[in-house]
Amino acid sequence: TIILGIESSCDETAVALVTSEREILSHKLATQEDAHRPYGGVVPEIAARAHAEKIAPLVEAALADAGLALAEVDAIAATAGPGLIGGVMVGLVTGKALAHGAGKPLVAVNHLEGHALSARLTDPDLQFPYLLLLVSGGHCQLLAVEGVGRYRRLATTIDDAAGEAFDKTAKLLGLGFPGGPAVEAAAREGDPTAVPLPRPLLGSPEPHFSFAGLKSAVMRAAQSGDYQTNDIAASFQQAVVDCLVDRTDKALKGLDFAPSALVMAGGVAANAIIRTALQRLSADHGLAFVAPPLWLCTDNGAMIAWAGGERFAAGLTDPLDIAARPRWPLDTAADSVRGAGV
Ligand code: ATP
Ligand code: MG
Ligand code: FE
Repeated sequence: TIILGIESSCDETAVALVTSEREILSHKLATQEDAHRPYGGVVPEIAARAHAEKIAPLVEAALADAGLALAEVDAIAATAGPGLIGGVMVGLVTGKALAHGAGKPLVAVNHLEGHALSARLTDPDLQFPYLLLLVSGGHCQLLAVEGVGRYRRLATTIDDAAGEAFDKTAKLLGLGFPGGPAVEAAAREGDPTAVPLPRPLLGSPEPHFSFAGLKSAVMRAAQSGDYQTNDIAASFQQAVVDCLVDRTDKALKGLDFAPSALVMAGGVAANAIIRTALQRLSADHGLAFVAPPLWLCTDNGAMIAWAGGERFAAGLTDPLDIAARPRWPLDTAADSVRGAGV
């Protein structure tokens, strides 16, 4: 089975062709980082226009690279949310047009489901259920991944997402955009013990996350003029590591199911120090640790194609009039509470 996957929920336009046998036949990605850099963050209007410009050529290029005609594809998967609505609509409408034109089924994919299942694309041995630490630009959650379409949220951030904290810290420190890789690079040259920073919610009984206080403390440290930028970056990163490890440890100790592995996914999972720390935590719990390769952590088309393929295999396809959803919780319970169309 061959799935064409389309991703356009934030600032990467991406298209990939992936098989149910885990072959990545091609993957194309156009990042808009240069367009957003002058603003220090993603500008929704610029993003939507850029997606609209890039999407058709990327579909063409992905098919050409794989040496395939659209007729040879079995289903079209497109991100239908959550994310910036303009961008999501561009990708979803493109997916609908391709599906309609070629007479192929459409699979509307929750972007977070793409992240959640991405590790299964590169790790054939990863079985359900697993504990997922989803750390991305817009989310910081612990989820029980029990099967395709079956996600139970165990914890979430009460304020900022982990990636958001990296991005805001980078902006504060003048390290540029996108923030995660810039902070990681600066941190390599700094001392993680140089700046005393808080670890919000450390030790608290529920495994929730909080990063807003950390960001404020970074701002005060930067404004004090007492510290080197690299030392602030390293100390910030260490504080995030400590929070992620403590909160995940708390969740692991209170699980009501036996996970096959601890899995990390989302853009922040590309961070080497964070990967190492969570791997160590897994080992302490005698648990396998799985994180996708770096390029599959940040947004890409392959994870959408893969998640779409998993849904397609489970018989889950969607009507061509399905709506884009700027907000769309992955948690099935939360979804039903919100109700359809919200
Ligand atoms: P979401 O998936 O929640 O909708 P998103 O799609 O914008 O948000 P991703 O593409 O999954 O987010 O991840 C982007 C985030 O990951 C950004 O906040 C970025 O700073 C962060 N990030 C990327 N690389 C690294 C890194 N090496 N270290 C830390 N953070 C990183
Ligand atoms: Mg991005
Ligand atoms: Fe993402």
